[in-house]
Amino acid sequence: MNIIIFGPPGAGKGTQSKYIVENFNLHQLSTGELLRREITNNTKLGKEISSIINGGSLVSDDIVGNLIEKYLSDKTYKSRLIFDGYPRNLIQAKNLDYLLNKYDQKIDIALKLSVSLNTIKKRISDRKSLENRKDDNADIAIKRFKTYENNIKPVIDFYKQTNLLKVVNGETSISEISAEISALIKGIKG
Ligand code: AMP
Repeated sequence: MNIIIFGPPGAGKGTQSKYIVENFNLHQLSTGELLRREITNNTKLGKEISSIINGGSLVSDDIVGNLIEKYLSDKTYKSRLIFDGYPRNLIQAKNLDYLLNKYDQKIDIALKLSVSLNTIKKRISDRKSLENRKDDNADIAIKRFKTYENNIKPVIDFYKQTNLLKVVNGETSISEISAEISALIKGIKG
């Protein structure tokens, strides 16, 4: 089973992905985490992307496309992935479709965590004190939210058309959201 989890930055994608990993034996593929790791490790790629990420813009489709292909082509993760933070625009959604076909896989469910900008602002300011991410300040948070919203609509429509999309109310507590997600995933397992 492969899952996509959608939601603006601060919606709780990371937290819920970790819950799914633990309960359904999947692997979390967070493009944001992979990119931040490149920056922390001061790699060539990290140096190239740090100002883009810290400024709240998206890195190029090719860079993230290459990252996710590494996982899709690896048999360890075959049909065991949670895509957290990918796809972020229609080009990426089409690329994911192409790669899934190439590696004989499919998406089983696409979960959309629906959360308001006010809730996001509060969560990001709470997270800032815990994780100390450079892109977690109020202005950049709003920019990331808007970048997300501007690009994601056609992606959501893309998954609606295939009947894979399930909307989850992301305003409730972490455990309530997890319970809803768990029920939806069990529903597809039959
Ligand atoms: P996230 O942890 O998902 O909020 O991602 C943090 C940052 O990483 C984003 O603001 C982007 O700069 C970059 N990023 C993560 N995923 C993608 C993606 N699929 N496409 C382009 N940029 C991405």
